[in-house]
Amino acid sequence: MQNEFDLIIQGGLAVSSKGISRLDIGVRKGVIAKLAPRLSASDGVDLMDATGKYIFPGLIDVHVHPVYVDTIEDCSILGAFGGITTMIHYAYARPGMELARTAEEFIEKGTQTSYTDFAIHGAMFDPENQIKDIAKCIELGVKSFKMFMTYAKLGWMTDDYYLAKAMDVISGLGGLAMVHAEDGLAIDYLEDKYRHRPQKEVFLKVRPGVLEADATFRALSLAEVMGCPLYIVHVSSARALPLLREARERGQRVYTETCPQYLCLTDEILQEKGPLAKIGPPLRTREDNQALWDALKAGVIDVIASDHAPKDKKINDDFFEAPFGSPSSETMLNVTYQRGVNEGRVDLCTLVKSMSETPAKIFGLYPRKGTIKEGSDADLVVFDQARKHTIGKATQHSNAPYTLYEGFECLGAPTLVMQRGRVIVDGSEFKGKKGEAAFLPVEIISGLL
Ligand SMILES: [Zn+2]
Repeated sequence: MQNEFDLIIQGGLAVSSKGISRLDIGVRKGVIAKLAPRLSASDGVDLMDATGKYIFPGLIDVHVHPVYVDTIEDCSILGAFGGITTMIHYAYARPGMELARTAEEFIEKGTQTSYTDFAIHGAMFDPENQIKDIAKCIELGVKSFKMFMTYAKLGWMTDDYYLAKAMDVISGLGGLAMVHAEDGLAIDYLEDKYRHRPQKEVFLKVRPGVLEADATFRALSLAEVMGCPLYIVHVSSARALPLLREARERGQRVYTETCPQYLCLTDEILQEKGPLAKIGPPLRTREDNQALWDALKAGVIDVIASDHAPKDKKINDDFFEAPFGSPSSETMLNVTYQRGVNEGRVDLCTLVKSMSETPAKIFGLYPRKGTIKEGSDADLVVFDQARKHTIGKATQHSNAPYTLYEGFECLGAPTLVMQRGRVIVDGSEFKGKKGEAAFLPVEIISGLL
């Protein structure tokens, strides 16, 4: 008789948004075929013992920038070591570039080089010339479009005219608008005003939380008028949270994201790491950290994603000239599990939900991704909650020569990661194969979560 399953994972504690259950997982042809308290071992070709370990649905990192020191290929590997089996990459269309062509290139590159499944967001640096491409992107399966309300001096900022126009077009075509919400012009003025002061000291003063809150309110207002669903990337300021809560209470379709660095780090790290910790929005205060954890618990923050954007920077580089960004994807689960679950700031179900189920729902990948259910892809993470380790640049898989978490001690780590039933990470070994990654067209959720 033929075996019913290609693989049975035995004895794990499967984690969902609703709870934790001890389940055997039968996998057939890359899909979760059966879940039961006990499956007969004789029904599986292969058996894997996960007794007492957590099993998470593969994480979905929806905020990745594979355009700096890490490529799509690199990101898929380092992400897999962090328990991430699906990434959504930003196809950055800079001024002078065509948005749809750029999205196509990212899809092509991802299909050729990614080890894990992926989707693509469009990112417009020049909406005046790029809005016309939105319809074509939507046909490609790229339906979420990011704009910057900041970085005016860099020439990346979208003003309210084009923000309104883009939202109008995006909402008409069933897409999702995404914004980096900070007041670019006021920040540029403050940057000029404090240009001759020590930059580490004025970095946060130049980018105060209230200017994030102001831009958040403006984005919410424009999206409301245009009837456009809105996703706010990397919320970092406590000041923005009441606005988001009120919008949600009014029934506005707004989804919110924060990142591990805004939950776990403060601006104090600038003293030690200098330009390595220069990221936008800036690392803020302990009070902001705590307000974000509380908002995650209360459902005001939906998603944790990495904003993985490692640049080639050294600690002694000129702070002002240094670019924004740091590596973050590989450490996302470990640091939020340590600070959140081990240190009692959030429960495990909420944490896993924010990095798997909720992003899958917002971007229409659910229930294929984001959950441990019969019929879902067997994208699974075996997480050993007793494994102690210390984060450091020597062991990370990013090409960045630094991590903001150097020396950070963690209890708990992913020890085995599989995508569609294939093991891609086994301990410290990478076993993925190129050419098996699927491009996932996105479908935007039609209501609130
Ligand atoms: Zn980003």
